[in-house]
Formats: sequence, C-alpha cells, structure tokens
Amino acid sequence: MVEGVLVSGTATVALRGECVRCLTEISDELEIDVQELFVYPGSEATEDEASRLEGDLIDLEPLLRDEVVLDLPFQPLCREDCAGLCTVCGADLNADPQHDHEAPTDSRWDKLRGLEAPNA
Ligand SMILES: [Zn+2]
Ligand SMILES: [Zn+2]
Repeated sequence: MVEGVLVSGTATVALRGECVRCLTEISDELEIDVQELFVYPGSEATEDEASRLEGDLIDLEPLLRDEVVLDLPFQPLCREDCAGLCTVCGADLNADPQHDHEAPTDSRWDKLRGLEAPNA
C-alpha cells in the first residue's frame, strides 16, 4: 500500500459556453466523479505519474480540469432540437419558428439584369 490520501467524491463544476447553432449562452453544471490517489512527497509511488501531495495540500485543479475536458460535449447545444439561426439574416429561429423570407428571385432573370449593367 502506497502511503497517501485517496481523494474520492463528486465535484460540481459550473460550465459556460455557447450553442453551436444559435450562439445562445449556455450555462450548465457538470458533475464529475473524482477518484485519485495522492501520494505523500518522498514516498515511493508505484506509478511515475501518480499525483503527489504538495505539503499538506491537495491540488485538485489539474485533476478536475482533465475530467471536465473529457466530459465536455464536442458541440454544445442549448437544446437537442435547437433550430439555429436563419442563414439569410441571422434571426434566431427558436424565437420565431415561422420565420421566412420571400422566395429567392428566379435565377432566369439574372441574365436580363446583367444586360442592364453598363459594360465595365
Ligand atoms: Zn441553440
Ligand atoms: Zn431570416
């Protein structure tokens, strides 16, 4: 048995980010299970990368950071079925589901319009 302190428990971490679809700010909480053995300085650790006590202190931050990164969603969404933003004007389609634009102009008229343009 390596001498040290076994840290075991649950930590709640506050998260802040934005929805990849509509850019709404998301705040969420992540619960992480933590279990890590911190060995006393000077004691022979079985693993080289074992966490070590710093004096009487345990630095949980690196441990929590690693866990959070592992648990973070790759593409956070404000909700599963977020409608996102209008690709034309950027309006939030969640707030305005009926949002629509005039049908795009008939491309057959583009040639005629080109004729009106002065030759550069
Ligand atoms: Zn969203
Ligand atoms: Zn729009």
